[in-house]
Amino acid sequence: MNIMKCPQCNSHYEPTSIGSIVYWQCHTCNSLWFDNQEAQYVSLQEAENIARTSTTARLVNKKNICPRCQAVLEKNELGFQCARCGGQLTDSKRLVEIKKTSVETYHKTHTLFSFSQLKSSVILSLVAVFLFVNYLIIHSFQTRNTLRSEASSQIQNIRIENTSDHKIAIVFTTKKAYSSEAVVVTGKQQKTYTINETPRFSHLLIIDTPSDHSVLTVVLKDKNGQKAITQQVRLP
Ligand SMILES: [Zn+2]
Ligand SMILES: [Zn+2]
Repeated sequence: MNIMKCPQCNSHYEPTSIGSIVYWQCHTCNSLWFDNQEAQYVSLQEAENIARTSTTARLVNKKNICPRCQAVLEKNELGFQCARCGGQLTDSKRLVEIKKTSVETYHKTHTLFSFSQLKSSVILSLVAVFLFVNYLIIHSFQTRNTLRSEASSQIQNIRIENTSDHKIAIVFTTKKAYSSEAVVVTGKQQKTYTINETPRFSHLLIIDTPSDHSVLTVVLKDKNGQKAITQQVRLP
């Protein structure tokens, strides 16, 4: 089990969540870390909320090593990114600026909409509908076989990590939005923790490090509160 460390200053990263986004924050240099290119799913409002909770970092232009896979991070507009695992190193100010720019670009491309564009987009839509119907016909033959394997792969990237204050963070994402809870069984004792009360894609739970031989069961519930999927994880 690794402790996540900041590539900029080697301090501990603390897992944090805002909205449906889970990210890692350095309380020494204030850098932010997102796994699996999650930064691109952060909304402008969420970026502003992140900026409100901390002062921004000054990212140093040096050889930063990915805290996940030890590859050398590449520089980009966000700060740095890992080409191997998709991790992103950034700071809150930069994140807000990028989100603002993408909102502006969105408005520009959507107000400069002309009749000729409309005509070509109607043709494109018809082609898309045609292809989609074809896809559905072919896909329906395959769906039955794949349904079972899809259900078991709803929980992605589950990770259990030490935080600096003798707690463990359980972090995972799901392909669909689920509300979630965790049941930790240690010996004869059982404890249930709520992770997300409302359905979300990102799930973060921080608990005291349990004594050894604990088994954690993640329980996902759909929007009707029906138990959907469970997965067991052995805690170290
Ligand atoms: Zn740092
Ligand atoms: Zn990496």
